[in-house]
Amino acid sequence: MAKVLILGAGGVGSVAAHKCAQAPEIFSEIVLASRTVSKCVAIADSIRQRTGRTIETAQVDADNVAEMVQLINAVKPDLVVNLALPYQDLPVMDACLETGVNYLDTANYEPPDTARFEYKWQWEYQDRFREKGLMALLGSGFDPGVTNVFAAHAVKHHFDEIHVLDIIDCNAGDHGYPFATNFNPEINIREVTARGRYWERGEWVETDPLSWSMQYDFPEGIGRKKCFLMYHEELESLVRNLPGIRRARFWMTFSDNYLNHLKVLENVGMTRIDPVRYNGQDIVPLQFLKELLPDPASLGPRTKGKTCIGNVMHGVKDGKEKSLYVYNVCDHEECYREVGSQAISYTTGVPAMIGAMMMVTGKWQGSGVFNMEQLDPDPFMEELNKRGLPWKEVILKG
Ligand code: NDP
Repeated sequence: MAKVLILGAGGVGSVAAHKCAQAPEIFSEIVLASRTVSKCVAIADSIRQRTGRTIETAQVDADNVAEMVQLINAVKPDLVVNLALPYQDLPVMDACLETGVNYLDTANYEPPDTARFEYKWQWEYQDRFREKGLMALLGSGFDPGVTNVFAAHAVKHHFDEIHVLDIIDCNAGDHGYPFATNFNPEINIREVTARGRYWERGEWVETDPLSWSMQYDFPEGIGRKKCFLMYHEELESLVRNLPGIRRARFWMTFSDNYLNHLKVLENVGMTRIDPVRYNGQDIVPLQFLKELLPDPASLGPRTKGKTCIGNVMHGVKDGKEKSLYVYNVCDHEECYREVGSQAISYTTGVPAMIGAMMMVTGKWQGSGVFNMEQLDPDPFMEELNKRGLPWKEVILKG
């Protein structure tokens, strides 16, 4: 029985709060805190209607360490689940260290003025968490998160060495808008417009943004889709932790419509993250664009279709070549029926809840800062099947 403090009342925070509420035998008390408390209250109402449970709500600016410390001291949680934005990771980790509470997030820290996607800043907390006997679990979403666990599962049960890893993220859903992003528009567009990068024989190779693509034939009726090579943060920890890895790449599907809109927005300067002076005021174009685009949380009732995210892995087992595909398929409309959110928030919020469950039940424990593949994949994989994200594996060779 544990008390959890969830930060962030966006799409992901909402799903995680609903899923924790579905497991009262583990999460006996839930507090949801965010910058705009009315959003927490709306989520609490939905949870009450769907599960009959009451959760507490609170207002906090998670950028402010003193405010966070005060909140944690008042709530006294067993774990802080940080589902606000990547900018808040370091202040929330500082507050956890000061109050002696374990930490979990789903995205690595980013400085607001550069789109870097590096674990460097959070890995620097290793000694401080270890010395205090506290655990910080980084990237417990789907990608990063489940994709790291799929890789750990493959290492544990299928391979002696994985030589090639391709993580392939397909969203075949349709929300009916000409242009919208499935999670926070600012974070999404920073990620998509960044230069591509993949690991090849001991070094990073850079590509122009979205300049490499391939066709992949997705299972369960989704079919062939064009996928683009991007850099994604889980590659950084996986190339450190997977034995024998030679090549690691990340691919994501985008529709022509999405890419055409993005190109125009980029060409006219609307995706810039540096401030522009306008009418005596500094405006960051991408932050202004976020205000114009549909709120990702509003896509839930309109999105139809499926997502399919998985790992294709080639390597060796007992001296023989082997290839394996591990994946999950998730249906946007089913997610909406269950928790009132589309599949992108769902596929992130459910693993956040499972990561929290691993930590508060002691199935995953340790002192220091951990990436997901460093922990035993078996109990996590088991919970994915029970908590709404069932996975399949196909041996492609060997
Ligand atoms: P949203 O923008 O929908 O929600 C973010 C929430 O955080 C909002 O409620 C926002 O408050 C709140 N927030 C922002 N700043 C602060 C602050 N200073 N103090 C307190 N609360 C704050 O984002 P998502 O729910 O889509 O994404 C949440 C996180 O999940 C992000 O870090 C994202 O990168 C990550 N993610 C990870 C994925 C994975 O697979 N690993 C996939 C998708 C997302 P307000 O409502 O006031 O704006």
